Amino acid sequence: MPLIDTIIRPDIRAMSVYHVPDSTGFLKLDAMENPYTLPDELRAELGQRLADVAMNRYPVPSYTALKASICRHLGVPAGFDVVLGNGSDELIAMVSVACAQPGAKVLAPVPGFVMYAVSAQLAGLEFVGVPLAADFSLDLPAMLAAIALYRPAVTYLAYPNNPTGALFDADAMVQIIRAVGDTGVVIVDEAYQPFAQATFMPRLAEFPNLVVMRTVSKLGLAGIRLGYMTGSAALMTEFEKVRPPYNINVLTQCAAEFVLEHCDVLDAQAALLRAERTRVAAALDALPGVVAFPSDANFILVRVLGRGQGHGQSANDVSANLLDRKILIKNVGKMHGLLHDCLRITVSTPQENDLLLEALAAALS
Ligand SMILES: *Cc1c(COP(=O)(O)O)cnc(C)c1O
Repeated sequence: MPLIDTIIRPDIRAMSVYHVPDSTGFLKLDAMENPYTLPDELRAELGQRLADVAMNRYPVPSYTALKASICRHLGVPAGFDVVLGNGSDELIAMVSVACAQPGAKVLAPVPGFVMYAVSAQLAGLEFVGVPLAADFSLDLPAMLAAIALYRPAVTYLAYPNNPTGALFDADAMVQIIRAVGDTGVVIVDEAYQPFAQATFMPRLAEFPNLVVMRTVSKLGLAGIRLGYMTGSAALMTEFEKVRPPYNINVLTQCAAEFVLEHCDVLDAQAALLRAERTRVAAALDALPGVVAFPSDANFILVRVLGRGQGHGQSANDVSANLLDRKILIKNVGKMHGLLHDCLRITVSTPQENDLLLEALAAALS
C-alpha cells in the first residue's frame, strides 16, 4: 500500500482502531453508563423542546446560556468560566494540541484513563506513565521524582481514578499540584464526581495551574457528548482558541439545558447507584475467590484469585463465561501489570446487579 505508507504517519499505521464490542442483546455493564432514563413526562417535554430547535442554523459558538446553566447547576465557583467539549475526550484532545510543543510531556499515574496517553501521542507529545502503588494509591515519591525529571506540561489526575475506582489522597494531589508549579497544568478529571461527591472545584482559586474537567456522560447523558473544564481565565482563553467553533451541536445544547433544569432527577439516580455500589461491593467481596477494591465511582474493580490461590476459575475464564451468559463487563487484566486478574463492573439497577451477581457466582463455581 504505497499510498498509505507515503501519507500516513508510521505511529498511526501501527495503531489499532479503538474497539467497542457490539452489545446488542447483552446486559451492558462495561462502560459506566447510567441505566436509568428520564421519567416519561420529562421525555415528552424534551421531545417538544428538541422539535423547536433550529437545526438549519449553526450553533451560536459562545454557548452563553448552556455555559451559565452548567456553572449554576454543577458547582463551578463564581468568577470561573467553562470551556465546552464534545465529551471530555475532546477536551483532552484540545489540551494536548494547545500544549504540543517540541519535547513537551504529558504525565499521569498508570493504570489510568487510556485517552490521556492516546491523545498525547496523536498530538505528538511524549506520555510518561507513573505506576500506582500496589493498592492503587498514588505513589507520591515516584510522582514527585517524575515531575522533577520530566517537567510535564500536562499532568492528569482522575479523581476518582478509572479503572481502579477510588479517590486519590487529596493531600498527595495538592503536593503534586504544587510540585508541578508554574511549569505545567494539572488536570483533575472528575468524570465520576456524581458518585464520589468530592471535588477540587472550590480549590481552583488557590492554584493557577489547576484545571477541573468534568463530563455529563457518567451522570446519565453519555449519548449527547458533553464535557466541560474550568480553571484560570488565562488558561481557558488559550484552550478556547483550540476548540472547534461549533463543537457542541444544537440538539446537545438544547437537551443539556433542559436536563440541567431537572438536576434533581439525575441526582436521585446517582444516589440510587451509590446505594447499590455499597450493596454490590459487599456481595462481590463475599464471593469465594473474589476481592472487591474500594470504589468512589459507579463501577467496581474486582480481582479473581483463580487457580493459584486454590480457587476454580481465572479472571479470563470468568469473563468469557459471563459473555456466554450475555453479560458484558470489562476485562482489564491485560491493561497493566498491576491489574492482573482484574475485571471492571459497572454498577446498575438492583435487578441488573442481581443478575450479574448470580451469573458471577455460577461462573466462579
Ligand atoms: C469515562 C471517562 C471520561 C469520559 O468522558 P466523555 O465525556 O464521555 O468523553 C473521562 N475521564 C475519565 C476518567 C473517564 O472514566
